[in-house]
Amino acid sequence: MTEELSPRASASEQGYEGALRPGTLGEFVGQAKVRKQLGLLLDAASRRQHTPDHILLAGPPGLGKTTLSMIVAAELDKPLHQTSGPAIQHAGDLAAVLSALTPGEVLFVDEIHRMARSAEEMLYLAMEDFKVDIMVGKGAGATSVPLELSPFTLVGATTRAGLLPNPLRDRFGFTAHLEFYGEDELARVVSRAAGLIGFALSEQGIAEIAGRSRGTPRIANRLLRRVRDYCLVHETVGDTESVRAALALYDVDEHGLDRLDREVLRALVERFGGGPVGLSTLAVSVGEEAETIESVVEPFLVRTGLITRTPRGRVATRLGWAHVGAEPPEISQI
Ligand code: ATP
Repeated sequence: MTEELSPRASASEQGYEGALRPGTLGEFVGQAKVRKQLGLLLDAASRRQHTPDHILLAGPPGLGKTTLSMIVAAELDKPLHQTSGPAIQHAGDLAAVLSALTPGEVLFVDEIHRMARSAEEMLYLAMEDFKVDIMVGKGAGATSVPLELSPFTLVGATTRAGLLPNPLRDRFGFTAHLEFYGEDELARVVSRAAGLIGFALSEQGIAEIAGRSRGTPRIANRLLRRVRDYCLVHETVGDTESVRAALALYDVDEHGLDRLDREVLRALVERFGGGPVGLSTLAVSVGEEAETIESVVEPFLVRTGLITRTPRGRVATRLGWAHVGAEPPEISQI
């Protein structure tokens, strides 16, 4: 998959993303239900003068989980401490983070499903009673020393909610499921971001970018950046023509498919007669890792109705055949 269409953040993107993040729930585009639910939770907490319940944000990458955690802290007017599951490899790592929290602080744990098991167990007690038991010493002489923590709000983010053990999931008072954004919402994301970076883009230009952003604000912002660069170098304005030319240069087609998406679809149709075909065979035929096909390419092709998953393998739909300009056979499973 080309970097332009990966929903995951690249290292070079951090500063750019920071500048474009909405700072309040009011500025956060889309996800109307989640915004309402979260708004109520925060409002009630501030009226009760109490820390709000712990919050779990679940959904694919690039939809705004980190942004929402920052908004929670900002709306509560409390500091935010950010860490991630992979950084917590031992219970001691978590104890160090928790014991340093100040009253009311918001602790954001990204990819919380990747935290070490021993730390997860410590987190149960911390979330429930704002306490941890620290083990001092080793072997027969080891004793557990209770440590009181400041009340805090945990905001956990996960792209794989199903991997969280039930006891952890149950300790979140509110779970927000973030959905892919509609094109109108993405157009608002692009328009807002274009304004912030001072780039004049026509209404149609905005719609062109929104339509190719795979329902994901991070991708929308990234494509916007590519188009801005193109217009700068070619000394053109941000109209439909230059948006199309810029995105064609980066192999992003009008539906947001990139080179790899199209290769997978074409292999399925042309080499395997539309399927069904197994994931690993498909991956080998395009020279990619099965993991990349399964986690990035396939979900998008399924979501856009170009392929389906069946117990016998992946199958191209009529829409999928049409997308590569081929006619499906008369009798088929599609
Ligand atoms: P990951 O799981 O990869 O960490 P994420 O879900 O945490 O991704 P964010 O980092 O919050 O995603 O958002 C990615 C980018 O998209 C940021 O630049 C942010 O400004 C922008 N963005 C996300 N959601 C919205 C939104 N609702 N309105 C405007 N911009 C948004």
